[in-house]
Amino acid sequence: MKQTEVRIVEKLSTNQQTYPQLERAAALIQEGEVVAFPTETVYGLGANALSAKAVRKIYRAKGRPSDNPLIVHISSVDMLGTLVDAIPKSAQKLMDVFWPGPLTIVFPKQANVPDCVTGGLRTVGIRMPNHPIALDLIRQAKVPIAAPSANISGRPSPTTVRHVIEDMNERIPLIIDGGDTQVGLESTVIDCSRSVPIILRPGKITKEEIEAILGQTIDEAMDHSGSDVLAPCAPGMKYRHYAPQAEVKLVAHSEKLVQEAIWQQKKAGKSVGVLSTNEICQTVQAADRVFSLGAAGDLTMCSQRLYDGLRNFDDYRIDVILVTTVEETGVGKAIMNRLAKASEEVSDLL
Ligand code: AMP
Ligand code: MG
Repeated sequence: MKQTEVRIVEKLSTNQQTYPQLERAAALIQEGEVVAFPTETVYGLGANALSAKAVRKIYRAKGRPSDNPLIVHISSVDMLGTLVDAIPKSAQKLMDVFWPGPLTIVFPKQANVPDCVTGGLRTVGIRMPNHPIALDLIRQAKVPIAAPSANISGRPSPTTVRHVIEDMNERIPLIIDGGDTQVGLESTVIDCSRSVPIILRPGKITKEEIEAILGQTIDEAMDHSGSDVLAPCAPGMKYRHYAPQAEVKLVAHSEKLVQEAIWQQKKAGKSVGVLSTNEICQTVQAADRVFSLGAAGDLTMCSQRLYDGLRNFDDYRIDVILVTTVEETGVGKAIMNRLAKASEEVSDLL
C-alpha cells in the first residue's frame, strides 16, 4: 500500500459537534476501508462494524489473531438497536453513568453483527467513546465502527500519533491525528450478558466504581499475574500483549532493589532501561536510559505515559527494561495487569 496520509484535526472543544475535516475519513469507512482515529483511551483502528470484508482488513493490518474480538464503537445509544439482542438492566445502569467513557459493555449480539467482529462469540463488546473526534467520525460515517487499538498485535497500544505511524504506515490509507490520548490505557471491559456481570479487563473505571452503581459485588476474570482464568470469555487475554522489543522485568518500587537489578543486568552484558517514577529515575546509576512515569503515586500520569515509556526504549536498543510496580488500587490494578502481560514470556500461541 502507498504512503499513509496523516491528517491533523484539532480537538477544539468537547462541545464542538462537527468536524468538516473528518469528511474523507468518514467516506473511507463507508467505502469499507480502515482508518486510525483518536479516542480518550488509546488510538483505534476503525472499520464499518457491519461489514465483514471491512473488518477483516483490520485484522490484516494489525496481524491480529482472528479469535480475538473487536470492540464496536457507537456515537448514540440508538445504534445499539442494530447490534444487540437485549439491554440487560445492569448494562443500562452502567451506560447511564459511564457512557460516553472508557467502559466496554459485552451484550448478547444480534445476528447481523459479523462473526469476525466478535471472534465467533455470541456476544458483542460495545463502547461509546468520550472523544469529540471519535464521536463525530462515527456520526459522519453513519455506521458503528469496530476498532481495536491501532498497534501491530502484541505491541503496546498507541497513545500518540507517532506510535500509530510507527505501526500502521503503509498499512492503512489514513490516520487522524487528534493529539495524545488522555487516559492512555484501554477501556475496562465488563460482560453484562450473564446473570451476574463480570469484569473481563480492568481499566480506568474500577471495580469499586462499577459496584457502587450496580449495588452488588462483582467478580473479575483475571488473576493478579494478568493471566486469564476465563479464557473463553475474553479471548484476547490469552495472547501476549503490550510488549516492546526489549524484555520487560518488574521490580518493586525501591531505590535499592532497582539499583541491584541494574547491576545484575549490566553484569550479564545487557543494556538496561528504567521505567519508573521521578523519585527512582533521579537516583539510579548506570542505567543506559531512564523514562519517568511521573511522581510516585500519580497513577493518572502513569497511565498516560506507560505505553510511550515502554515503546521509547526500542529506539535505543535497550535489552532489558526494569519497570517498577504500582499499588493495585484504583487504576493501579489496570496498570499492573498491562505490565504483567508485557513482562510475560512470549507465548507459543503467537
Ligand atoms: P482491544 O480492541 O485491542 O482493546 O481488545 C478488545 C478486547 O475486548 C478483547 O481482547 C476482549 O478481551 C474484549 N472483548 C471484546 N469483545 C468481547 C466479547 N464479545 N466478549 C468478551 N470480551 C470481549
Ligand atoms: Mg489492543
